Amino acid sequence: MKKHLILVAAALTMALAANGQQTPGARPDEVRNIILMVGDGMGSAQISALMMASDRPLNMERATMGGMVKTSSANNRVTDSAAAATAYSTGEKTANGYLGIDPDGAPLQTILEKAEAAGLATGLVATTNIQHATPAAFYAHTPDRDDYHAIALELLDSGVDVAIGGGIGYMTGREDGRDLMQELQAKGYAVADNLAAIATATSGNVVALYNEDEIPAYVSQNGDTAGATTSEGEGRDPSMLAKGTSKALEILTANGAAGVSGEGKAADGGTDGAKTASGKGFFAMVEGSWIDSAGHAGDARMLMGEMRDFDNAVGVAFDYADAHPGTLVIVVADHETGGLTIPSGDDNFLLPDSGVEFRWATGGHSATMVPILSYGTGASAFGGIMDNTEVNRRMEILLGLE
Ligand SMILES: [Zn+2]
Repeated sequence: MKKHLILVAAALTMALAANGQQTPGARPDEVRNIILMVGDGMGSAQISALMMASDRPLNMERATMGGMVKTSSANNRVTDSAAAATAYSTGEKTANGYLGIDPDGAPLQTILEKAEAAGLATGLVATTNIQHATPAAFYAHTPDRDDYHAIALELLDSGVDVAIGGGIGYMTGREDGRDLMQELQAKGYAVADNLAAIATATSGNVVALYNEDEIPAYVSQNGDTAGATTSEGEGRDPSMLAKGTSKALEILTANGAAGVSGEGKAADGGTDGAKTASGKGFFAMVEGSWIDSAGHAGDARMLMGEMRDFDNAVGVAFDYADAHPGTLVIVVADHETGGLTIPSGDDNFLLPDSGVEFRWATGGHSATMVPILSYGTGASAFGGIMDNTEVNRRMEILLGLE
């Protein structure tokens, strides 16, 4: 495995060396920023379903490189979100239910923690509570993914620059009597209980957690959410993830450029132009959390609404990569949920339209490979069939964290 890693590193280095002029201080194709976008439970059928409901190409279709990811965990061919996200955050397979620890319970350093230690800015955005398995795997270390109160304590000490999602109830309504939002504030964070309240924040450490627990899903009216507004469906703001991603990237741009990531930095630390040259970039994880829940529920309308928001967030990230060379965007899933297939509605393919159906094979997860799409600087490093742990290793090599 080590030899394989060295080969990957060598190939990446050669690709960088062969490409363009060298500028002092930074290679032209150096990856400074990584935005990892996880559609929880998003298999190829979920993407195909959104394509069929759309009258224009998806943002995901702009990706320049594609591949497949093997998702098994250390103890099960069918992974859960905790073990899968731990593979992406640490490069190690662990047992289902475990976060940021190996199968024996030993803590593993996550890519977010390595990025913080190296002076990069870091961010987490989700549509569920920020203590939920996927975001938690980037800062928590516990065998119990459901212990949200303990996981919240680890968020406090994570050093994360920006966290946007749900779950304020696990910060404030605690049995130990602590108010973690207040404690974050004491550490220099701007804190808020909704996204609008941080509209004017452009740098510094920011935590915006709305909803006591998880944020409700957005359920579209008819399954086709092109141009949807809240009046056409139920639940949350249908573009919450895209908006949260946009705000997080704005703040991470300032923090990453200024190289001021870390606990206790001043809220205005990101605006010092003199520090820009030494800035080290950022790592961000964005989760489309409810795609998974739509699969568990076998709910096509929820799937469409959540997939649309996720794809719009992908559009925000790809646009960001266009405007900020040195940015790599990876779009992937942790596993597929629901065993969704889209069979023909009729066996006679000579019909002008044989129709399609949505069929869910399970109320749980499936063992199929999931697509990985990449865009921006370094995108070509993510083609072919990869193990989920390999995705982490390649990200860490590109950011110089290996
Ligand atoms: Zn999941």
